[in-house]
Amino acid sequence: MFGTTVKEPALTREELLTWLREEDPARLSQLWQWADRVRQEFVGGEVHLRGLIEISNHCVRLCAYCGLRAPNTELVRYRMSGDEILACARQAAALGYGTVVLQAGEDPGLTRDFVREIVRRIKETTGLAITLSLGERDEEELWAWRQAGADRYLLRFETSQAELYQRYHPPKPGSTVDRLYLLKRLREMGYEVGSGVMIGLPGQTYAGLANDLWLFRELDLDMIGVGPFIVHPRTPLADPAFARILPDGEQVPASELMTYKVIALSRILCPRANIPSTTALATLNRKNGRELGLVRGANVVMPNLTPPQYRIRYEIYPNKACLRETPDECHACLQMRVESLGRVVGRGPGTSPNYRYRMAKD
Ligand code: SAM
Ligand code: SF4
Repeated sequence: MFGTTVKEPALTREELLTWLREEDPARLSQLWQWADRVRQEFVGGEVHLRGLIEISNHCVRLCAYCGLRAPNTELVRYRMSGDEILACARQAAALGYGTVVLQAGEDPGLTRDFVREIVRRIKETTGLAITLSLGERDEEELWAWRQAGADRYLLRFETSQAELYQRYHPPKPGSTVDRLYLLKRLREMGYEVGSGVMIGLPGQTYAGLANDLWLFRELDLDMIGVGPFIVHPRTPLADPAFARILPDGEQVPASELMTYKVIALSRILCPRANIPSTTALATLNRKNGRELGLVRGANVVMPNLTPPQYRIRYEIYPNKACLRETPDECHACLQMRVESLGRVVGRGPGTSPNYRYRMAKD
């Protein structure tokens, strides 16, 4: 299994499954070292900081896992104004970030023209790279935003287990478009493309998760975001009668350890991708979850720039890490954490080496 060189990482599906089930600390330590070596070789020692702006918590969808789902009437909804979003982007630039990520529920109130205008204004005033994560939008909108200057799009496919996906992510009425199709279209439009999954969704099998990892490689993703599933009490998945938890030994745990395994295996399979150490991981281990993600394959962190009065309402799941810190505090904390690992904060847009590689090939 270690016979491959760092330049040509190779794992079979069977090996993926073996690693996902591995519990021996000595073997796991070899996996962490392997992923860290590949990370150093292909994307280097820089850790890129992406300023996250959660621009709206309105959502029309019914995702069974997410607290922003439309039927959650207890959630107080907000949508940031263009000026508020621009102020956050300026703050990102002032803190030295090269990128902002505009994320939201699937919100038709974020119209094509509103988003196009905000992309244009951010580009014009800050020059930052812009990542959008606004759900399943019309191709015409995605193209308009790309033309206005949006650089990247994040859309997790959540799970490759079709029956789980359909149960937990019901389609929009009248729509047959799926996320895999949109990922293909985003790539054709010239976006840097990011996707990923939740780890430990009820009903997720080891074979299913190995298949997810395999799909990351087949999709040739530029960015890969993975994080543990965390139950939100006001969602269908909080109801054991709805959630399809498998018997012991078959159900993938939504654990910190499993998240590190998936980060490490993603790095080995997709060596040039940008991979964040996510907030969901930091939520499971506030003390050093982010750092452990960074030494087991990740090379990105996402400080939150959302104004605090909105941040607490972007409640995908409860007790999220870093809910109350100001952007300055978030920045100082993350910088200190990165430097404590002997790594450096990246400068500039931090374009995915995978994107640069495939652009050079095409
Ligand atoms: N609405 C957009 C979308 O669905 O792509 C972007 C925002 S959505 C909140 C971002 C991601 O949050 C989803 O892709 C999903 O993987 C993750 N998420 C939602 N509910 C979660 C939960 N309960 N635990 C962990 N992650 C969750
Ligand atoms: Fe809406 Fe995204 Fe949450 Fe689904 S995951 S309910 S689309 S915000």
